[in-house]
Amino acid sequence: MRHIRKNDIVVLLKDITACRGVDESRDEAARSKWATGRGDKAKVLAVYPESGKVVVEGVNYRYKHIRPDRDNPRGGRLQKESVVSISNVQPYCSRCDRGVRVKTLRNEEGKRVRVCARCGGMIGAA
Ligand SMILES: [Zn+2]
Repeated sequence: MRHIRKNDIVVLLKDITACRGVDESRDEAARSKWATGRGDKAKVLAVYPESGKVVVEGVNYRYKHIRPDRDNPRGGRLQKESVVSISNVQPYCSRCDRGVRVKTLRNEEGKRVRVCARCGGMIGAA
């Protein structure tokens, strides 16, 4: 679970379609904006290790209803990514060009680095 970090690129392991928030009256092209599928790559915006959830850019859009307040006097609906289970995403390896499992190793300086379990390349170097 600690193998995924903020700003990682991950690959979706299953189709994740917004269950709420998709306006059925829209045409297919407009709807597909909110439907993301298996194999799509996207950036991790947030990680919640306690609950095992991640927020991934463009995945699982939901409507959040906002009460009117000073910044937003009319209130309204805001569309925003919601959490998905961390088990539905895998870190992306640019060398393998796919989602991979990762291993944690120590480098020369004794720091822990994440490497691809398949090709041994570094994941999310930096
Ligand atoms: Zn690899």
